[in-house]
Amino acid sequence: MSNTGQKILVVEDEPDIRKLIQYNLAQERFKVSEAEDGEQALKFLQRDKPNLIILDLMLPGLSGLELCKILRDRPDTAHLPILMLTAKAGEADKVVGLEMGADDYLPKPFSPREMVARVRAILRRSESSNSAEAAPAYDKGELKIDFRTYEVFARGQLVKLTLKEFELLRYLVQNSNRVLSRDQLLDRVWGGETFVTPRTVDVHIRRLRKAVEKDDRKPRWILTLRGVGYKFDEKALAE
Ligand code: CA
Repeated sequence: MSNTGQKILVVEDEPDIRKLIQYNLAQERFKVSEAEDGEQALKFLQRDKPNLIILDLMLPGLSGLELCKILRDRPDTAHLPILMLTAKAGEADKVVGLEMGADDYLPKPFSPREMVARVRAILRRSESSNSAEAAPAYDKGELKIDFRTYEVFARGQLVKLTLKEFELLRYLVQNSNRVLSRDQLLDRVWGGETFVTPRTVDVHIRRLRKAVEKDDRKPRWILTLRGVGYKFDEKALAE
């Protein structure tokens, strides 16, 4: 398995350790981002979604455990893999860390090789559980999406979408309740395609609303956030 493009966020206040982790993961072709504390990490997560977080337990401000709990309580980060680091090798910390929702635990000092091995193991586990649960379908209230057959049902009716509209909808629901900028949508849904502009996103959003919203002039699911972008409001599906 290639690591290329797998993104890892390192949350650690000690620059030397951060650099050590960054260097060793970059050697393995992971894309590494760094945060010095919990606040920076939360800001980063508003813009980007890493495949895994390496989280130091002892941080200034929000502690690693507090941050872990916040992430687990949010739908968009609830399943984000977390490797917790700590200076204390006590068994109690391990239990607390895992109870708070960390996927694994690595006491300091650790060998870079061990750290990379743990990261790989967690990613492998999360990938196999993702493909098991992400494959079949999205089914919430009035919206049903079959990701394998590309069928979409809104209020029980089969809806016709183009491939791009489908991919846009899929990305929106998989990132429900998150604010997504036009650039982000362009990047994730259209990838490296040329001849697309932020306008392209607006046009597709309009078509998608026509197809799935009850009243596309008063959208309830796909919301516009003026000057920012769009958001899929999952709560509205149950209304
Ligand atoms: Ca620390």
